[in-house]
Amino acid sequence: MDPQSQNAPGAGSSLYVHVPFCVVKCGYCDFTSYVVEDQSVHDLFLRALDRELESTTLPQRPTTVFVGGGTPSHLAPHRLRELFATLARHVDLRAAKEVTMEANPESIDEEKASIALEGGVTRFSMGVQSFDPARL
Ligand code: SF4
Repeated sequence: MDPQSQNAPGAGSSLYVHVPFCVVKCGYCDFTSYVVEDQSVHDLFLRALDRELESTTLPQRPTTVFVGGGTPSHLAPHRLRELFATLARHVDLRAAKEVTMEANPESIDEEKASIALEGGVTRFSMGVQSFDPARL
């Protein structure tokens, strides 16, 4: 069946994955996000995400996938790779019309961008409120 067909499993559905970690907690931010010194917590999160996806009835072929946060690009390269490997075990990212990952200019680099693109990302959402600290 054509994965983009109206009748394909999950067609028309969306998947949102929240990565709740940031480098710093911005004073104006109400999103669920945490600053953790011990980055082994990121590994615990990835394992918990895998279990959550395992136990959830998911659209196997969502039309759109959004990986937000928090700051997904804050994850170390090997963890970012694990994040997309985890997602790929549960949903067909290649069949999605759009796979977005939020990124912060301070934490995304060429290596992480490449990992995300290899993982199926087709669009980056850059989180920039202002480059002027006084305005923040
Ligand atoms: S980087 Fe974004 S998600 Fe993280 S605390 Fe700041 S505004 Fe919130």
